[in-house]
Amino acid sequence: MKTRTIKKDKINIITLGCSKNMVDSEVLSGQLEANAFDVVHENKKLDHNIVVINTCGFIDKAKEESVNTILDQVELKRKGKLDKVFVTGCLSERYKQNLEAEIPEVDAYFGTMELPGLLAVLNADYKTELLGERLLSTPSHYAYMKISEGCNRTCSFCAIPLMRGSHVSKPIEALVDEARRLVKRGVKEIMLIAQELTYYGLDIYKKRMLPELLDQLAEVEGLKWIRLHYAYPSKFPMEIIDAIKRHPTICNYLDMPLQHASDRMLQAMKRQITKQEMKDLIKEIRLQIPGICLRTTLIAGFPGETREDVDELKDFLAEMQFDRVGIFTYSHEEDTSAFKLDDTLTPEEKESRAQEIMEFQQEISFEKNQLHIGNVYDVIVDRKEAGRYIGRTEFDSVEVDNEVIIHSKTPLRPGDFIKVLIKKAYDYDLEGEVANISN
Ligand code: SF4
Repeated sequence: MKTRTIKKDKINIITLGCSKNMVDSEVLSGQLEANAFDVVHENKKLDHNIVVINTCGFIDKAKEESVNTILDQVELKRKGKLDKVFVTGCLSERYKQNLEAEIPEVDAYFGTMELPGLLAVLNADYKTELLGERLLSTPSHYAYMKISEGCNRTCSFCAIPLMRGSHVSKPIEALVDEARRLVKRGVKEIMLIAQELTYYGLDIYKKRMLPELLDQLAEVEGLKWIRLHYAYPSKFPMEIIDAIKRHPTICNYLDMPLQHASDRMLQAMKRQITKQEMKDLIKEIRLQIPGICLRTTLIAGFPGETREDVDELKDFLAEMQFDRVGIFTYSHEEDTSAFKLDDTLTPEEKESRAQEIMEFQQEISFEKNQLHIGNVYDVIVDRKEAGRYIGRTEFDSVEVDNEVIIHSKTPLRPGDFIKVLIKKAYDYDLEGEVANISN
């Protein structure tokens, strides 16, 4: 008589898009593991039978990648290599009905706020006691921490509020508790993320509370670095800078997407700030914290952007000397207020402008990096690669910023903090040797 073996479900989670999506996938993994599921991330072995794709719907390229990933997984299901395919995240939130009609082979689609529903189809209980718990997909020495969800701003190009809703802050106690638990598991650096950090607290406390949150997080024992990502520049509260100054554990680092510099563009983007106000703000921040690393993100090819606008942006970059710059090409997103404008530039023109701006910034970055030669910095070790160690200074965030190539005679472990003497500098990276191990 044949016996039937019941194979345990193994769930693979594929995460597309930004660090905020990564945190959502980590929360999902934590819930599934608490329900005794075998969970893997980005599993290449194909020894799982269920896939959950956490999609991104931010801009056209991201949407395309998400759709292609869904199609690939559906094809694996058709070939009998998968039992079920589920789709969640921003693309699914925004285009659920279209996706259900276009790719019906997916077993179910869920929006960004439908974690309990997703768990239910996987026969898992939604464990509310696990709020704030998650299974980290990052190396164990750093983690992202989402302090709020959604955004109340009305930037004309941005589809994020359509997918993530209005701003909802997490309470301070919950975040401090989450940080403590992360530290217990070996995390030394936390990247605070939100669509818009400066709005934190206005919804639940009726006042901006990021400085208070920072004060409390800085007290978490064992947490070495706290890093701030995505601050909106208009009416930027300088109390945040005071908090960075107050606490050595808060990195001298600020990620402030500015999107453009020409007043015409800033107005069309509904950014509620002028070029002069941005200049004044940056000067004031640098006056308060000399040497602070300022990162910004820009958009190339917004409707109506002229050659003069691009030149003005480059002049602005030359004057402001940002330490790090990232750039997106404009994506014409339906239901945003910019959608009614004429998307005047071709994808090639947008790409070429983005390239031109990045090449311009590359020279600035190279020159700025030369200034680090001969200096000694605290560096966190991230990994070993091709016989060398790779780490970051407090001026560099994970994945998007510079790295430090470290030469060490003694073995180092990920998460070690060491002092590195910088010997060489490149466009985007530094290279140096261990000065002495600080802990
Ligand atoms: S502040 Fe950022 S997330 Fe919010 S609408 Fe503007 S660009 Fe989008």
